[in-house]
Amino acid sequence: MDAALRRAILAAADSPRVQAFVRRHGMRLGAARFVAGETLDDAARVLRELNDQGLWANTTLLGESVHDRAATEAVVAAYERVIDRIAADGLRANVALKLTHLGLEIDEELAVRNVRTLVERAARHGQLLRIDMEQSAFVDATLRTYRTLREAGLDNVGTVLQAYLHRTPADLEALLPLEPNLRLVKGAYLEPPEVALPRKADVDAAYAQLLERMLPAIGHTAVATHDERLIEHALQVAERDGVPRERFELQMLYGVRPQLQLDLARRGFKVLVATPYGPEWYPYLMRRLGERPANLLFFVRNTLRR
Ligand SMILES: Cc1cc2nc3c(=O)[nH]c(=O)nc-3n(C[C@H](O)[C@H](O)[C@H](O)COP(=O)(O)OP(=O)(O)OC[C@H]3O[C@@H](n4cnc5c(N)ncnc54)[C@H](O)[C@@H]3O)c2cc1C
Repeated sequence: MDAALRRAILAAADSPRVQAFVRRHGMRLGAARFVAGETLDDAARVLRELNDQGLWANTTLLGESVHDRAATEAVVAAYERVIDRIAADGLRANVALKLTHLGLEIDEELAVRNVRTLVERAARHGQLLRIDMEQSAFVDATLRTYRTLREAGLDNVGTVLQAYLHRTPADLEALLPLEPNLRLVKGAYLEPPEVALPRKADVDAAYAQLLERMLPAIGHTAVATHDERLIEHALQVAERDGVPRERFELQMLYGVRPQLQLDLARRGFKVLVATPYGPEWYPYLMRRLGERPANLLFFVRNTLRR
């Protein structure tokens, strides 16, 4: 049932009419629950609030699928400002970005050049930069890019593996020699069954298995889920295998489980809240609604209340 609804929401998200309506009214109707605002000042303020609560944060200038070279230069310049602002404000935060935002669909070399510029700038400030994982069509290029950066001696870069993909256990094994910094997620995109596990129970089981392999074996694991059962499983595996607390962290999305974040931070774990901002929040919001149809009700209720 949920899977059908999720597919319906992600499909409706492509409708120009739905898009026009939500883009016009969405921030007021509830997008602000998941997005830190439209400007870097908005984001910096929210990151500070999270830090003040003992939480870490990352931020993303929302956007993806840029098809124009000049536009990717503007994205790089914007991220340079984000990286410099995090440093200037002394925030416990870093950047996470998408390669299609930096031109991956135009030319892989362009995306690599762009991301390298940003990883080098982050390195100068002692910040990590994480490359998010997008649709399955981009996984090879994303992992290739990650490897290129690491082989160029840049260690302040991490990426993401998605538990729903059939290929992920093999990708993890191939990455192990790099002692990578990896975020593990369930996977947020609509993928065919040839590519990704269609049943949620199977995705959850795959996530647990990947955690068991990753936590003791890689450089740093970011356990990115709101699933309390899997979070507790990760904590047990870390304890059992003697993985020190500096080698893993728990990550959640801004607005999804604020109380759980604080509870875990109070137990002494590093908790990072992924906190995106920017005017291009539409596809991000639609993925969040697709994950949890109850969020759609929250949105509809706000619409009716107006
Ligand atoms: C920090 C972070 C980074 C991510 N980066 C990527 C990425 O690079 N690539 C990618 O494909 N995916 C990414 N994701 C999304 C991820 O793939 C899942 O779609 C998302 O996390 C929902 O799955 P879940 O693990 O929380 O488990 P679920 O089984 O979906 O949810 C578990 C419980 O968490 C709560 N919950 C989950 N989602 C929501 C929501 N939207 N609103 C309210 N409650 C909710 C509910 O209580 C639910 O019962 C990221 C997620 C996080 C937390």
